[in-house]
Amino acid sequence: MIIKALELRNYRNYAQACINFDPKTNILYGKNGQGKTNILESVYLCGVTKSHRGNKDKELIKFDENESHIKCLIEKDKRERRIDIHLKKGMTKGIAIDKIPIKKYSELFGLLNIVLFSPEDLSIIKNGPLFRRRFMDSELCQSDGIYLYNLTMFRKALNQRNSLLKTMTYEDTDKSMLDIWDEKVVEYGMNIIDSRKKFINKINPVITDIHKEITGNNEILDVTYEENVSASDYPNMIKSNREKDIRFGQTHSGPHKDDLAFVINGVDMRKYGSQGQQRTCALALKLAEIEIIKEISGDEPVLLLDDVLSELDSDRQKLLLKYIHDTQTIITCTGMDDFIKNNFDIDKIYKIDNGNVYVENVKGV
Ligand code: ATP
Ligand code: MG
Repeated sequence: MIIKALELRNYRNYAQACINFDPKTNILYGKNGQGKTNILESVYLCGVTKSHRGNKDKELIKFDENESHIKCLIEKDKRERRIDIHLKKGMTKGIAIDKIPIKKYSELFGLLNIVLFSPEDLSIIKNGPLFRRRFMDSELCQSDGIYLYNLTMFRKALNQRNSLLKTMTYEDTDKSMLDIWDEKVVEYGMNIIDSRKKFINKINPVITDIHKEITGNNEILDVTYEENVSASDYPNMIKSNREKDIRFGQTHSGPHKDDLAFVINGVDMRKYGSQGQQRTCALALKLAEIEIIKEISGDEPVLLLDDVLSELDSDRQKLLLKYIHDTQTIITCTGMDDFIKNNFDIDKIYKIDNGNVYVENVKGV
């Protein structure tokens, strides 16, 4: 699958922009704050329906405008497909595939698979468990509509249970109400735990192999799913924690407390990994993500590299670019030095300047 063209109207700092992408390596370069990440964000939106930066839809609309349009033309299975996103202040966004509006956002998943890699991803090992859960969730949501449903329902049930627990901390409320939310939290929670377990079992050998290649076979990385509670124990655990939950006004057990462990030769990288080791694990994780998406969807994802090359040393840059050789890639950077120094293959260059896109001659690099 490739993105052929992207059109933006009143999106972030773009009044109007149109980009025809090359099927291989595209570079967007420009000074800070010119709109490079904004372009990647709009592409991400077409694959995942929301901003990777966590912004609300209305924040994506150009200042002083009321609506914004993104049009993305892709080629998938030798067919041209079109994704339209329409953002309007005060309204939920509209999405259309091939000009037909969709009812549920999940209908979009699978059409345009995106892997986005930003400098924050390099900190996934040293950051808190929230970031590692987010990784599992974003992967699973993109590839599995049922997971997305279970996660949405789990979060709703968990919020309801937590607000009930908070009132129970101070008031003597009828405890039978809690049974209803216990049941829901456990039902959806068990499904989430099962899916995460399967996903990590699948991705682990892929990460181990890639990591071996990066480190020249010196280190064996093992990624394990650290479930807070197993699916089979969850019904009992939620009951046995009930008094504690009421006392603190929150749910102590469940997949919202899960984590991922990264262990090299018996050493936990989250706590004891050097900065270089942690970043190498994160790189292996991202590269494995591309492989897994290929396997699940039977298609190449589009890779978005936001300012990430400058964060890697030249060996790791080379490895990353070698890995993604056949994948359509859109890379942002502030300068072309790394590309020139390392003689990297580039197919198309765009200069981004204050919400304007200028095509440059590749031979001129
Ligand atoms: P850096 O190299 O620092 O990462 P960048 O080129 O990736 O920079 P972006 O994050 O893409 O920059 O764009 C930032 C610019 O977009 C800022 O100038 C910001 O003011 C502008 N911007 C953000 N949201 C909006 C909006 N809703 N309307 C208009 N402009 C916006
Ligand atoms: Mg940026």
